[in-house]
Amino acid sequence: MSALLLDGKSLARSREAMLKQAVASLLQQDAKRPVLATLLVGDDPSSATYVQMKVNACARVGMGSRKIEMPAHTTTEALLAQIGQLNRDPEICGILLQHPVPSQIDERACFDAIALEKDVDGVTTQGFGRMAMGESAYGSATPAGIMTLLRHYDIELEGKHAVVVGRSPILGKPMAAMLLNANATVTVCHSRTRNLAELVAQADIIIGAVGQPELIRAEWIRDGAVVVDAGYHPGGVGDIEKIGLEQRVKALTPVPGGVGPMTINALISQTLDSAKAKQSAQDA
Ligand code: NAP
Repeated sequence: MSALLLDGKSLARSREAMLKQAVASLLQQDAKRPVLATLLVGDDPSSATYVQMKVNACARVGMGSRKIEMPAHTTTEALLAQIGQLNRDPEICGILLQHPVPSQIDERACFDAIALEKDVDGVTTQGFGRMAMGESAYGSATPAGIMTLLRHYDIELEGKHAVVVGRSPILGKPMAAMLLNANATVTVCHSRTRNLAELVAQADIIIGAVGQPELIRAEWIRDGAVVVDAGYHPGGVGDIEKIGLEQRVKALTPVPGGVGPMTINALISQTLDSAKAKQSAQDA
């Protein structure tokens, strides 16, 4: 068996072509150009790179962006005030607060201050709750991108056992809820899980979202599984060890070029959805 490559890079590229057309047709209807506000706090170089990649993606599809950078010593109050301004700004369709923020900031309070209709990165408690209940909401970008990737490649989810390793608010938890909504049977593992190897061995679909290089060992993964790796570490290594997997699993995401491009694509796609919703509300 040679595994199907879940090629997020090429899927994101073809979805960008559709987004570009959709932005152009929105502008023809006299709508304002959709603008994503990006908020970067502190000077972490990886975070700066991720923000720039999101800004570049906006430009590729014809959307605008407004880059706001705040110093590492920013307080929760100052960040809340900035988010409040962006919530009130009619030009802004979506707000991205790059995670993680410096440790003195109450990140949850800041995420939750983002207006629901501008929460295009899917980070608010209310958005998560609505999504988990099957109500309309913008999904957390990384799991939403993973779901788009799985659907594109016709990966069957219903009745399958999905094992999500990681339970962070932006990745593991919303991933589990989305898979549950798609009728998978879901197991969520975390740092206190006692029998990780045994649980991973039962997975039809395994999602690696731990943030530790190759913590999930190839030998734990059963033949024919679908392997999705959200991790990306120096040397092109993910959260899942890949040795020998290509010959015996059903499908797997490359690292890089799998989950990362789909995360950005989900963000810009949801920014366009927000712009369209705003336009429809104005037309009504
Ligand atoms: P995170 O907030 O650090 O969460 C890591 C999760 O892994 C936690 O729930 C933690 O459990 C769990 N964990 C840690 N050690 C474990 C162990 N030994 N066994 C089982 N579970 C363990 O990370 P994150 O933000 O969710 O990111 C996870 C990975 O995805 C990272 O590699 C990150 O770089 C990647 N990521 C990629 C994208 C993308 O666009 N490609 C976006 C976001 C994240 P506890 O809850 O018990 O601490």
